[in-house]
Amino acid sequence: MQAILVLNAGSSSIKFAAYEHAAPTREPVLLARGRIAKAGLETEMLVRRADGEVLEQSRAPGGARFDHDRAMARLFDWLAAHRVGLVLAAIGHRVVHGGSRYRAPVRVDDAVLSDLDALAPLAPLHQPHNLAPIRHLRARLPDVPQVACFDTAFHATQPAVATRIALPREVTDAGVRRYGFHGLSYEYIASRLPAVLGDAACGRVVVAHLGNGASLCAMRDGRSVGSSMGFSALDGLVMGTRSGALDPGVVLYLIEQRGMSAAEVGTMLYERSGLLGVSGIGSDMRVLLASADAHAKEAVELFVYRLVGEIGRSIATMGGIDSLVFTAGIGENSAEIRTRVCASFDWCGVAIDPDANARNASTIHAAGSRVRVAVVPTDEERMIAIHTARCCA
Ligand code: ADP
Repeated sequence: MQAILVLNAGSSSIKFAAYEHAAPTREPVLLARGRIAKAGLETEMLVRRADGEVLEQSRAPGGARFDHDRAMARLFDWLAAHRVGLVLAAIGHRVVHGGSRYRAPVRVDDAVLSDLDALAPLAPLHQPHNLAPIRHLRARLPDVPQVACFDTAFHATQPAVATRIALPREVTDAGVRRYGFHGLSYEYIASRLPAVLGDAACGRVVVAHLGNGASLCAMRDGRSVGSSMGFSALDGLVMGTRSGALDPGVVLYLIEQRGMSAAEVGTMLYERSGLLGVSGIGSDMRVLLASADAHAKEAVELFVYRLVGEIGRSIATMGGIDSLVFTAGIGENSAEIRTRVCASFDWCGVAIDPDANARNASTIHAAGSRVRVAVVPTDEERMIAIHTARCCA
């Protein structure tokens, strides 16, 4: 059987999924998915069949840093032992940054790889990790095509005014602009909306991707016209451990007055802020919602307050809203967060059906609501598999 392998490599884990590859025009069928992740000084490998059955769960020595080459070797050793009759037709990768140039997925060759390497300064915490398996697999499987799918590409349709940052031209001309991220998630959601919303999918839609990382995308006719993440994945909403947008004066203060290094500020903003920083308890929304602790309540309140503000900004820039869509871990599962957010948009005609909301139904607006409200599970891996099949057709 021909298969497409999808890889999503981060700093301390590689998530993977294998799909049956019948034809570029046919929906890929999920065969199995899993991850290899750092677990203390070991790495844990978990593989599940599409129906959820665990095929592998094991630990191996890992070391202080997550080693992508070792993780790839482990995955391919496992595949060699288990892929009876499975032939890899292509490999698709999630790559966070395509810069201004890569507005669509691309087959990787030497020139593309060197372009993508050159974008690493724009996303130093993600891009090198995304590219490590590509490099490894070009050596291991030189004849298997590899496709890079970008988190930025879906936002290439944004108008110039939405991407410009009000800094001197010598800085912005060098690539300091708003790019937007979570694009593979938004593209997948956009592809699902006609089935969920009918004609309203073509209107003004705000999609809230609320996972550990969180952002919004303002869409018109299924295309991105704005996003809450900008130059980096730090901007916009309060997230699990990231601050979201903050006054740049705070960064200057931390460096100049508190004597922090750039690296220390970076670690604080990416890893110790957001829900974790405010609550002092953790980044898991389920834990915070269940907690009676005052700081946990404050963290959730701030998360909702900032989310409401950003949705409002999207509505204003689009001149109104026809549909509001929730996705990712919090968006798909937390009826309480959806209730609290939607209650703040009573003024523009949002009304939800409490029963449908409690069931995480695909549409949760009340009869008579002027705005449709939907809950749509995202699937970035599937989007990558679809792109990879098309690119290699
Ligand atoms: P990632 O960005 O890592 O892919 P996910 O999309 O899996 O993250 O989202 C993780 C977040 O979703 C966590 O904050 C988790 O607490 C939250 N979450 C998952 N299920 C629920 C739930 N039932 N209620 C509230 N939050 C939930």
